[in-house]
Amino acid sequence: MTPKRNGAYVDSRTDVVERSCDHCGWHAVDDTYPDLIERYQCHLREAHPKIWLRR
Ligand SMILES: [Zn+2]
Repeated sequence: MTPKRNGAYVDSRTDVVERSCDHCGWHAVDDTYPDLIERYQCHLREAHPKIWLRR
């Protein structure tokens, strides 16, 4: 688990959301969709800058 920026933790959640990258084997799980989207956007920016720039 990675700490959230606001310092809050959510535990014992089973209804997590998942996202896998369309461009590589990257995969992430988070407890809220906005957090997950943010992580995916960060991944795109770092791992697939060309795709990131096209968005
Ligand atoms: Zn990727």
